[in-house]
Amino acid sequence: MALSGLEIFKLLPKTNCKECGHPTCLAFAMALAQKKVSLDACPHASDEAKARLAAAAAPPMQTVTFGTGDAARQAGGETVLFRHEEKFHRPTVVAVTLPDSLDDAAMKARCETIAGLQFERIGQPMPIDAVAVTNESGGAARFAAAARAARGTGKAVILVTESAEAAAAALAAVGDARPLLCGTTADNADAMASAASAAKCPVVARAADPEGLADLAETLKKAGCAEIVLHLDAADPWSEMAGLARLRQLALKQNVRALGHPVLAFAADGDPADQAVRAAALVCKYAGIVVLGTLEPWALLPVLTTRQNIYTDPQKPVQVEPTLHAVGDPGETSPVLFTTNFSLTYYTVEGDVEASRVPAWILCVDTEGTSVLTAYSGDKLNEKVVAKALQDAGVESKVKHRKLIIPGYVAVMSGKLEEATGWEVLVGPRESNQIPRYLKEVWTA
Ligand code: SF4
Repeated sequence: MALSGLEIFKLLPKTNCKECGHPTCLAFAMALAQKKVSLDACPHASDEAKARLAAAAAPPMQTVTFGTGDAARQAGGETVLFRHEEKFHRPTVVAVTLPDSLDDAAMKARCETIAGLQFERIGQPMPIDAVAVTNESGGAARFAAAARAARGTGKAVILVTESAEAAAAALAAVGDARPLLCGTTADNADAMASAASAAKCPVVARAADPEGLADLAETLKKAGCAEIVLHLDAADPWSEMAGLARLRQLALKQNVRALGHPVLAFAADGDPADQAVRAAALVCKYAGIVVLGTLEPWALLPVLTTRQNIYTDPQKPVQVEPTLHAVGDPGETSPVLFTTNFSLTYYTVEGDVEASRVPAWILCVDTEGTSVLTAYSGDKLNEKVVAKALQDAGVESKVKHRKLIIPGYVAVMSGKLEEATGWEVLVGPRESNQIPRYLKEVWTA
C-alpha cells in the first residue's frame, strides 16, 4: 500500500539540506508521494527508508510468467476486486490436462487434438494456453515423457505432481520451457522449492485455507522461489468460490503480502458441462489459471467466451475498423448493407451475411463502438454520419446501383438518409439472423 507524504517524511533525514532540489525534506516527501520524483534524488536516504519505500511501491499482487516465446503466459498483477473499478488486466490462463497414464498412441492423439483447438470470436483468437501434465502414473519416467509431449503442442506447460523426483525428471525433459510446477504442499515444500529454484521456474503452493497458503508462500519465498501461484484446496466448489474471493480481498484490500499472488484452480473432474460451468465461474472469481479435463470444443468455448467478456476494458467497447468490408467476393451488383463498428454487432452481421452465401459489401460506420440502437439514440448514428461513411469508403466506385440496406431498427432514418445520400434506402431486417432470408428472397440489384 502506498505511503502518504507524512509517512515518507518520517523516513527521511529531516536535515533540509536541499540537495534533492527541494527546499525541505517535507516538500520532497510530498513530491515523492505524488510520484513526481524518485527517492534516488536524496543522497542521504537510509537503507531502511529505501527498503520500506520499495516494499510500499510493490504491486499488491505479483505477476507470474511461465512458458517462453509465443507460449509464454502471465497470471496475476490484478489491482481491483471488481471489473468496473478499473479493469482486469491478465486474462485467465486456460489449460487442459494431459494425464501421463495414457498410452503412447492416446497421448499422441490427445496432444494433436490440443494443438488443433482453435477458437475465434468477434474477430479475436481465443487460445487454449497451456497443457497441465498430471502425474497419474506416479512414475518419474512416464511423467517426463508426457511433459516432453506437452511441450510439443507449442503451449505453455504446467507440471502437476507431488513427487519431487517426478518433478525433477519432467523439468529436465522440458529443458528451457519454463513450466509452472504445481503440487507443492507443506509436506514436500523443501524438495519442490529446490527443484523449482534450480530450474528457475514458478511454483504453485497448495493448502486448504488462506492461513496455510500464506505460511507456505512465505516458506517458498525464503527457499528462493521468486514467482509463486496459490492453489486453494477447498472441500467443495462453494467453499472454493468463497475462498478465492476472500484471498483476493486479503491481497488487495488488506494488503496481506503473503497472499499477493495469482490463483490456480482445477475444474478437471466430472461431466464436461459441469467442468465448463465451474471453470466459467472460476474465470469470473478469481482464477488466474484454470485447468479443465475436457477437450470438447462445446465445453471449452463458453469458458473462453466468458474470459473474453470479463477481460475487456468496460470503459472501451471493442471496435471494428470503420471501413467498407467485403464478404465473399462482391462485385458492382452486390448488395451494400451498413451496420455499426461495435464488434459484437459487426461480427454478428458479418456472420449472417456469410451464411447467406450472397457476396456483399458491409459498410462499417464509426459509432465509437456502440450498437445500432444505442448509437442512434445517442445521435452517433444519423444520416450525416452514414453519408460521410459512404463517401469516405468510396462505395460509389464499388457498385453501379445506388441501394443501401439499413438495419430495420433505424427504419425511421430512411427519409433523411435518402435526402442526404441520394441513394435508395431499403429497410433490412430488425434481427441479424433474418439477413440470409432477406438477401436471398428480397434483395435485387
Ligand atoms: Fe531532505 Fe534528502 Fe532533500 Fe536533503 S536531499 S532536503 S535530506 S530529502
